[in-house]
Amino acid sequence: MANYIIEGDTGPWELVIGLEVHAQVTSNAKLFSGAATSFGAEPNAQVSLVDAAMPGMLPVVNGECVKQAVRTGLALGAEIHRWSRFDRKNYFYADLPQGYQISQLYHPIVGEGALEVQADEKNPDSAVRSIGIERIHLEQDAGKLIHDQHPTMSYVDLNRSGVALMEIVSKPDMRSPEEAGAYVKKLRSILRYVGSCDGNMEEGSMRADVNVSVRKANAPFGTRCEIKNVNSVRFIQAAIEYEARRQIEVLEGGGAIVQETRLFDPDRGETRSLRSKEDAHDYRYFPDPDLLPIELSDEFLSECRDSLPELPDAKRARYAGLGVSAYNAAVLTAEVETARYFDAALDALARPELANDAANWVVAELFGALNRIGANVEASPVAPAQAASLLRLVADGTLSKTLAKQVAEVMFETGGDPEKIVEERGLRQTSDTGAIEAVIAQVLAANETKVAEYRGGKDKLFGFFVGQTMKAMAGKGNPAVVNELLKKALG
Ligand code: ADP
Ligand code: MG
Repeated sequence: MANYIIEGDTGPWELVIGLEVHAQVTSNAKLFSGAATSFGAEPNAQVSLVDAAMPGMLPVVNGECVKQAVRTGLALGAEIHRWSRFDRKNYFYADLPQGYQISQLYHPIVGEGALEVQADEKNPDSAVRSIGIERIHLEQDAGKLIHDQHPTMSYVDLNRSGVALMEIVSKPDMRSPEEAGAYVKKLRSILRYVGSCDGNMEEGSMRADVNVSVRKANAPFGTRCEIKNVNSVRFIQAAIEYEARRQIEVLEGGGAIVQETRLFDPDRGETRSLRSKEDAHDYRYFPDPDLLPIELSDEFLSECRDSLPELPDAKRARYAGLGVSAYNAAVLTAEVETARYFDAALDALARPELANDAANWVVAELFGALNRIGANVEASPVAPAQAASLLRLVADGTLSKTLAKQVAEVMFETGGDPEKIVEERGLRQTSDTGAIEAVIAQVLAANETKVAEYRGGKDKLFGFFVGQTMKAMAGKGNPAVVNELLKKALG
């Protein structure tokens, strides 16, 4: 893809983007306590004495969260640090009872990795770019303040306090809003395959701090602004676009960009200043004296490695190797649930040579139907094994493509086994030449003028005869046989 450029009054500008993604770790308990983490619980129902920072309480690291961070790092091809450590990041805020957040500044658990991203997703042949990952560290989430339920009071909900987050920091390697969107989607997809984060951006399980700067071609990086806590791909892209244009306007007006933290307002589609670097906190980081460093053993690392599923890129390559088109392979691997469905259908089908037919059916027919009924693939009325039976009926000639569509309609409506539906409704395709010839004779007799025109050179009429014959046979004639016999009869 050509570089994304914004034309200013002084010529073209290039965008530089880096993302800090906060992903809530999938785990039954918090990072340093046994309190539950399920979404939507009653306020303050999931708060242990540790999360409320009662005096004398001591944090104990949750091994499951460590494992999830390591598995995520491995899935991103990143360097795993065998030795890492927690630091205290000190600041005062009402949603932070400890007065500090436990995080990892100096020695994060995961170091450099990379993510392959295709900005132009609709086009499987478009350029793939590698976006660097700087680091992944573990940290605690804060609680939540609620200001709008009572005119004179604020409330605090500590359910989220102490929940484990992975902060996944990219290098400033992205160059367009589309590329940033593709990066977030790909990252979300991998996290969901790995099972280390549910990727639910609406519930805040995944949110991004978006760093944006602009520069002239080949110039050094400009000063960046950071847009905090953006929680959808669409908003991330809109925030980048707006922020880049704002910076260009400032620079072209003779001003300078001050490094600052900004907020994105989705209703107005603009970013607003929150605080500048001058009043930035001094967090007085220091190693948390209540926690030992994390040391990873060989066994632990191989356990993490062995527990990884086949990841989207590998799956995509495997599907392509089975003859699935690049587009279908991309669509089928984007979401883990879809890939699971397709894998189950392939297993049930047990005929690798039909893999692309299966892919076409899932992408065109199944997705279309699921869209219409508003269901996701996990709630599909057609189970993978039933999809496989249907595909087999087409492959062995029992059903034409048209009849298969009719059978599928019934399956989408009422569920059920395609073979049974074919028997019950008499939808079997017929290749019986005698029966087809009889129908053809009727059709030609009823359309004598058209037959004469056809024989007089109007070739286009052939389709008309096919249509009439199929109609007379209620769609059950084998199209290949119908074609052949019609040619003979008309020739
Ligand atoms: P800090 O620790 O102050 O947040 P980092 O160097 O860790 O700064 O960078 C934070 C994020 O900002 C990273 O994702 C990085 O890629 C991005 N970033 C750094 N410099 C720039 C820049 N000039 N333009 C855009 N993004 C940048
Ligand atoms: Mg930052």
